[in-house]
Amino acid sequence: MSDAPKPARFRTFLILGAPGSGKGTQGKVLGAIPRFHHLACGDVFRSLDTRTALGQKFVEYSSRGELVPDDVTVELWRENIKQRVDSHMFKPEIDFLVLDGIPRNVEQAEYMEQDIEVLRVFHLSCPDRTELARRLRKRALKDNRFDDANEAVIQNRFATYEAETKPILEHYGEDRVIQIDASQAPAKVLYDILGGIMTLEAWKELEKMKI
Ligand code: AMP
Repeated sequence: MSDAPKPARFRTFLILGAPGSGKGTQGKVLGAIPRFHHLACGDVFRSLDTRTALGQKFVEYSSRGELVPDDVTVELWRENIKQRVDSHMFKPEIDFLVLDGIPRNVEQAEYMEQDIEVLRVFHLSCPDRTELARRLRKRALKDNRFDDANEAVIQNRFATYEAETKPILEHYGEDRVIQIDASQAPAKVLYDILGGIMTLEAWKELEKMKI
């Protein structure tokens, strides 16, 4: 067992990018590496029973390409992360948290300030929206994602990203944001993300720890 103290806030990396930029892919790969724990907010929403009030709310908003209201989203996230800590799936004293899909706007970022210490924000940038839409349509068929199947919803998801999510980059500021070219092969994107992690003091400390 490690005797590392529990940090006051979860040490966190954010993966940020427009729909189709590869956040989920990168999050899953990182989460498969020891000492990284991945949580995708969209997956938490998709796991809800659609007969519940919150499940219904998710279907209502996501089918329009809109964000679920902030208060219920952050509450759901808090409950979910607490379960992961309580069941020792996520061990905050030795694991980094990798979040994808949350926070999704500045309000959520402010709400979550008490929970997470954001070490780095990886911005998966791909200005080519035609390429992103192509990826989404491909995913819609493969993963049965109804919100990626409809052209108008896809365009609304991009608009929501531009208007609500992108300002998060400014909120966290240049020092913490790393720009990554999301049009590269997934392995190269991962390489760039890892490069951004390994220069961090928090990483070097963890590396020294015997667990
Ligand atoms: P994603 O799988 O991350 O693309 O999310 C799918 C949908 O879930 C989004 O279009 C939103 O409707 C909803 N959603 C996921 N994460 C959030 C969030 N942090 N805040 C509000 N809505 C979210």
